[in-house]
Amino acid sequence: MLQIDLHSHSTVSDGSLIPADLVRHAAGQGIKVLALTDHDDMAGLAEARATAADAGIAFITGTEISVTWNRHTVHIVGLKIDPDSPELRAGLEAIRAGRVGRAAEIAAALEKVGIQGSLEGAYAFANERVIGRMHFAHFLVQQGYAKDVSSVFRKYLVRGKPGYVPHTWAPLEDAVRWIRGAGGVAVIAHPGRCDFGSTTLRALLGEFRELGGTGIEVVTGSHTAEQAHLFAGHAKHYGLLASVGSDYHGPGQKYLEMGRLPPLPEGCAPIWQDWPEAAVLQD
Ligand code: AMP
Ligand code: MN
Ligand code: MN
Ligand code: MN
Repeated sequence: MLQIDLHSHSTVSDGSLIPADLVRHAAGQGIKVLALTDHDDMAGLAEARATAADAGIAFITGTEISVTWNRHTVHIVGLKIDPDSPELRAGLEAIRAGRVGRAAEIAAALEKVGIQGSLEGAYAFANERVIGRMHFAHFLVQQGYAKDVSSVFRKYLVRGKPGYVPHTWAPLEDAVRWIRGAGGVAVIAHPGRCDFGSTTLRALLGEFRELGGTGIEVVTGSHTAEQAHLFAGHAKHYGLLASVGSDYHGPGQKYLEMGRLPPLPEGCAPIWQDWPEAAVLQD
């Protein structure tokens, strides 16, 4: 099993463990190199870094940036970013402001199908910074509208359902520029979950590379073995390095438990190949 995990969430965004508990959990699962990549926020990085030092594991700073590319939502993970970068901080702050407006629109849309109080309800599950669909999902489950988070997404929160509102996130070129400007590397998150076909995906990969993108998640909590193989091929073709991440959101949440990711397919160039932090990994 892989001892490196470069994609995870805490209560700073839509995960259910506070950063310190997330890091301790990762260490307990045998992870030796961990990145915290909260959606559109870096507020958990200091706590996670300090806990990682105590727990004796290597820590990689990160964030997962919400992007709109050709009208599609795409997630870009930034790794090894400087959390003090003014441009990155300002960019993420603007995305979070957009989330506040979107949350009000989601609540209004849910009200139209008779669901009252979802804005306050969702905020009760969120911290004061990042509000997202997961927090609405927790409220709707609590209120008995569906049995779990997955079914609530299917019934209410995905495109075409009553609580879905279209939203424009950051441009791809801005996200890549912020990450690079903060000294980091940009990675396309879970490409297998993109809502478009292979022609569009190829256009994305080419453009991302042109813009200075570095990597693509090949092994993730939401990829099958076939998808890992497919994206390993794409990585090679487009000159992108291979990343790995569980996309862990907490105990019992969707996606994989930490420490359960399979190795990269043969012939992949890992994004951590030159990272001093990764020297602790056994192969
Ligand atoms: P947002 O960025 O607020 O639109 O929310 C996206 C987040 O919602 C993802 O990072 C997942 O944590 C969660 N999510 C998206 N789709 C689903 C789904 N079908 N089932 C469960 N969680 C989902
Ligand atoms: Mn999430
Ligand atoms: Mn994502
Ligand atoms: Mn994620």
